[in-house]
Amino acid sequence: MLEQVPDEVSVLAAVKGRSADEVRACLEGGIQHLGGNYVQEVGTLRPVVPQSAVWHMIGPLQKNKARKALQLFHWIQTVDSLALGERLSRLAEPRESVNVLVQVNVGREPQKAGVLPEDVPALVQSLAELPGLSVRGLMTLPPLPERPEDSRPYFRRMRLLLDDLRREDVSGVELEILSMGMSADWEVAVEEGATMIRLGTTLFGPR
Ligand SMILES: *Cc1c(COP(=O)(O)O)cnc(C)c1O
Repeated sequence: MLEQVPDEVSVLAAVKGRSADEVRACLEGGIQHLGGNYVQEVGTLRPVVPQSAVWHMIGPLQKNKARKALQLFHWIQTVDSLALGERLSRLAEPRESVNVLVQVNVGREPQKAGVLPEDVPALVQSLAELPGLSVRGLMTLPPLPERPEDSRPYFRRMRLLLDDLRREDVSGVELEILSMGMSADWEVAVEEGATMIRLGTTLFGPR
């Protein structure tokens, strides 16, 4: 299936519930980016898979796990508050800034993490001023689709949001990543401008 993904789109393997053998096989198959939902699970996996992997936090990050997360992940894709950003900034190594994506609750689901679309510009502005953080783009998990097409309006909204932010040209931020699309709807996400898709089931099979 990977040959169907355009070259300019990165594939991230979502590793939750997968064994070290499965993750190693996936790296051997040419995947470079790994996504973890849980600090503890990645703490166990990361030492036993090749160090070339680039690790992304894709699950909700509790503030009391921020320090550990910074040791384990190169990217935090789930920053959705200034408080979390400030915490990461305080803990980050001054010389090694951590890459962050702002998670957007594009479907306005009350139970879901992420900042509402209208609050994204102000959050990006504030995060851009924090030392030790590089804001690199946006991430979203739209409402669970019944059909892949159900996700299209949400993906389109995300793309427009990113375009608007780029036009604002916030100093110190390079907004090049749009992380959206999972096994159920990645093709639609790519059509709507995703630069990174996050796949679990499609790569590893059902959990
Ligand atoms: C599990 C997960 C994925 C991958 O889900 P699949 O439907 O198995 O492809 C992507 N993103 C996040 C945030 C996840 O938790």
